[in-house]
Amino acid sequence: MGKVVKSDEEWRTALSPQEFEITRRAETEQAFTGEYCETKTPGMYLCRCCGEPLFDSKTKYDSGSGWPSFYEPISSDVVDTQEDRTMFMLRTEVLCSQCDAHLGHVFPDGPAPTGLRFCLNSASLKLDETEESE
Ligand code: FE
Repeated sequence: MGKVVKSDEEWRTALSPQEFEITRRAETEQAFTGEYCETKTPGMYLCRCCGEPLFDSKTKYDSGSGWPSFYEPISSDVVDTQEDRTMFMLRTEVLCSQCDAHLGHVFPDGPAPTGLRFCLNSASLKLDETEESE
């Protein structure tokens, strides 16, 4: 599968202003304000930008952080990670491997079985309630 590549102007047309700032400029939505912060609805979380399936609702858990949190992506190759040294912290940024959308960050304080917390922006995701996992 090839990468999804669009210009900023194309992304601006396809996304809301907030979605653009978060997914294409690595901004972060305010804690407890996102659409999927508390959501427990079954389904598949897709990339808001390119529609690629990224996270299964079965791996979503309540981290208390104010952002939707998952302990693993549906497959290790659907996300990319890279070092993020902004905000006077060393964090690991999580991106959609298909279109490089900024999704959030991953921290080593999650639950079993992975011990990881994928702390994501609701604005980077789109819940598909019709797509069932196995
Ligand atoms: Fe994407």
